[in-house]
Amino acid sequence: MDKKDICSYTYSELQDEVKSLGEKPFRAGQIYEWLHVKLAEDFDEMTNLSKDFRRRLGEEYEIRRLTLAERQISKKDPTEKYLFELQDGNLVESVLMRYSYGNSVCISSQAGCRMGCRFCASTIGGLARNLSTSEMLGQIYRVQKLIGERVSNIVVMGTGEPLDNYDNFLKFIHMVSDDHGLHISQRNITASTCGIVPAVRRLAEEGLQITLALSLHGSSQEKRRLLMPVAEKYELSEVLAACEYYFQKTGRRVTYEYSLVQGINDTDEDAAALARMLGGRNCHINLIPVNQIKERNFQKPCRKNTLEFKNKLEHHKINVTIRRERGSDIDGACGQLRRRHTASQKEN
Ligand code: SAH
Repeated sequence: MDKKDICSYTYSELQDEVKSLGEKPFRAGQIYEWLHVKLAEDFDEMTNLSKDFRRRLGEEYEIRRLTLAERQISKKDPTEKYLFELQDGNLVESVLMRYSYGNSVCISSQAGCRMGCRFCASTIGGLARNLSTSEMLGQIYRVQKLIGERVSNIVVMGTGEPLDNYDNFLKFIHMVSDDHGLHISQRNITASTCGIVPAVRRLAEEGLQITLALSLHGSSQEKRRLLMPVAEKYELSEVLAACEYYFQKTGRRVTYEYSLVQGINDTDEDAAALARMLGGRNCHINLIPVNQIKERNFQKPCRKNTLEFKNKLEHHKINVTIRRERGSDIDGACGQLRRRHTASQKEN
């Protein structure tokens, strides 16, 4: 039988486990601290537990490991990219971006993705499987250990659709922000979704303070359908209503991500339609010049056109930023490192 994945237990779940082992409740606090604050990778590190208890823990539970398969350090900016191998051989990518305000880590929520966005490398091989809560936490823990510095911000914008892995993702948010663990403020966490309407509405009810980012990418239902198959399922008007609901429930301003693709969604009409759609909303638009992937022929607009698009939105009093390109020399776009690695293994 598989051993139990001890890092996926919340603080209170761990208390129940410890009780069922016939141990004193305070032992749960000690174990949780070893796992989620001191980031122990072996029960033998837990020196304030008896050898016998450590042995019993090791018989029933395991601390699942992420093995570093590749690390790329950008020469252009303070960005690093990691490829981690999970215990079953699946690969996931994480990215570290250092900013003046702290270290931000972008994590993956699934191995692969089934959403099929046309410009995205992560979805080309489809979904392999959901990540467990411990595998999401593990990406942050491994990065923090590798760099020897605290991670203060998280973006769930790597491979996968977090709301397609709802329960594990939600537990991850609770555990990473729990004051018994790393205690990262929910206000420093952003999760990006392609817009699974019922899940956005459900998330709005969870009493969280994380920022929701919606991948919009089209200025109308028709244009969005060209790039995102999920738009076949949910009408743009429903998606926007769900985001407004998230804002009403949480008071958190929603970010709209818009990947600019030359000739497809970067025209004057697109800017005007976007302004009509979002003008008056308390929101923020993040323009992302599309990161070209070799499997697709989408190109980003030139710098001048990107700036003009931004100016048009600003003219309508919309908060808008252009995402700074980071790590473009290190397979920066979602899923590229994982894809290259998998492809090269197949060739060997
Ligand atoms: N599934 C989630 C999160 C993962 S992708 C979502 O759809 O939001 C994170 C963001 O990067 C999304 O806005 C996604 O559309 C965008 N993205 C993916 N590949 C890209 C590329 N090649 N160029 C620009 N943006 C990309």
